[in-house]
Amino acid sequence: MGKVIGIDLGTTNSCVAVLEADVPTVITNSEGYRTTPSVVAFSKDGSRLVGDIAKRQAAANADRTIFSIKRHMGTDYRKKIDGKKYSPQEISAMILRKLKNDAEQFTGEQVTDAVITVPAYFNDAERQATKDAGRIAGLNVLRIINEPTAAALAYGLDNGQPQKILVYDLGGGTFDVSVIEIGDQVIEVLATSGDNHLGGDDFDERIVNFLVEQFKETDGINLTKDTAAMQRLREEAEKAKKELSSAMNANINLPFIAMTKSGPHHMDINITRSLFESMTTDLIDRTVTPVENALHDAGLKKTDINMVLLVGGSTRIPAVQEKVRRICGIEPSRNLNPDECVAMGAAVQGGKLGGQLTAGSAASEIILMDVTPLSLSIETVGGIASRLIERNTTIPTRHSQIFTTAGNFQTSVDIKVFQGERKFTRDNKLLGNFRLSGIKKALAGTPQIEVTFDIDANGIVNVSAKDLGTGHEQSITITSSSNMSEEEIERAKWEAEVYGSKDAEKQGIVNLRIEAGQLLQNTEYMLHEHRKDWDKQTKKQVKEACQRLSKAIGRSTPEKIDEVTASNICEAKDYLENTLSRMGI
Ligand code: AMP
Repeated sequence: MGKVIGIDLGTTNSCVAVLEADVPTVITNSEGYRTTPSVVAFSKDGSRLVGDIAKRQAAANADRTIFSIKRHMGTDYRKKIDGKKYSPQEISAMILRKLKNDAEQFTGEQVTDAVITVPAYFNDAERQATKDAGRIAGLNVLRIINEPTAAALAYGLDNGQPQKILVYDLGGGTFDVSVIEIGDQVIEVLATSGDNHLGGDDFDERIVNFLVEQFKETDGINLTKDTAAMQRLREEAEKAKKELSSAMNANINLPFIAMTKSGPHHMDINITRSLFESMTTDLIDRTVTPVENALHDAGLKKTDINMVLLVGGSTRIPAVQEKVRRICGIEPSRNLNPDECVAMGAAVQGGKLGGQLTAGSAASEIILMDVTPLSLSIETVGGIASRLIERNTTIPTRHSQIFTTAGNFQTSVDIKVFQGERKFTRDNKLLGNFRLSGIKKALAGTPQIEVTFDIDANGIVNVSAKDLGTGHEQSITITSSSNMSEEEIERAKWEAEVYGSKDAEKQGIVNLRIEAGQLLQNTEYMLHEHRKDWDKQTKKQVKEACQRLSKAIGRSTPEKIDEVTASNICEAKDYLENTLSRMGI
């Protein structure tokens, strides 16, 4: 087995790590960054962009740029582009494919095996969809593990003394809390809780709504219909939010945000930290109940917790940290990098599953015991959810139940499976239903069919059945409308492979344009800095080379760039580089 990578497939950003000499190491992407925006764009010429490049062109191509796809995992959501509908699994696969390519470049080896993390509170459909996304991207997903558990694993490596920790994970789109016991070489999740639809995106949206309302008041213009303007607002809102984590004020300055008959309109709005806090108090308050539930389910009081780990970019918000301090009564730890620790923990688990850890090393000795976040039930008379497996049961786990027929000579039984904590099935998530067929004709109540529900180490539900009368086994597939069929996955995998090579090429071309732009900017800056000490001839030649490159770049946009324009840029870039080196600059 080659190297196993650990992937934190985040709502906003993703991160990949790999073990190097037993130490988890974060992989730098092809753009030179340690995290990759989870953004996918379809450029007008039909190619796909992923990561920084996709994020950077978003305002100019808002309708064809997809953010936060993770929020739709396990649902029927489809994004329609040029008449084709893309599932969240396919979009996520495009992100995973880029991460895989970057990992291959970094390690210099082909990478096929991966451990992917998901929020602890993800249900079966969301986990299954994540696993399918991995398959579409050409990855063999060895294990799906929970994000807070991965963070605890990264933490536990260096802090092996027995303790109880609480992981508070507020990312871009999800909130998770896990209570974990780090024992002697065992990391055991005691309980987990969360909210799958709460994260940094919601904080951004509050700022965006505020800006839209302010602009309506001052300029009488409703920006919500203008997708490009809204994208610019979203980008600025996120920037301002981040600034407010360290500064008390953030300025939103968006020139030419709207155009009317009277001319251009500009936005210039100031947001103070206290205003931001007043806009988002209720969002932060929503994290309190899950923390209390997790502590309650773990049978612990807050005073039993020795350490609180903050994970996810949104825990950088001072008001979030203050809230955690207040709920838990202790100062949260800042030892882990909230953006990277999840991928690092996944890499450790990957190394363990791939047998790549040195025998006897600290990581090789650690045993991980996780739990299922949600109860599993089946529907019984009156729409009641009858529990088979309780939430926070250690996984893998299994439960068997005997089913029989209600009518004489009935040859099949329909069974509906749900996940969730509510009493009535209508309030829980339908995982799917299946039909037990081929039952031998008999009087009502005679057949004895044992159905076994098991939750594997990935937190994914599997079902099997056995006719106890005949010993005949039946294989059962839970069919959920949001999951993709085998054929759909295979087709998507094939398409991803075909597009993959084209996209890599396109990504290379777009990168070239970005690099050329940076070279031009740096050279123009140097020209300005040395305007007094460079001689006339040098300045003339450098200026000329700059103009040539600027012209070549100007003939394209990040979305509209083909081989011809790319080769012109390449030529002009080489010319400028040669000019500079000839001049000894
Ligand atoms: P993650 O999914 O863990 O990468 O978290 C991403 C989220 O964290 C996004 O919503 C970011 O806007 C947010 N984030 C990152 N850095 C900061 C910061 N300094 N202050 C506030 N939010 C941040």
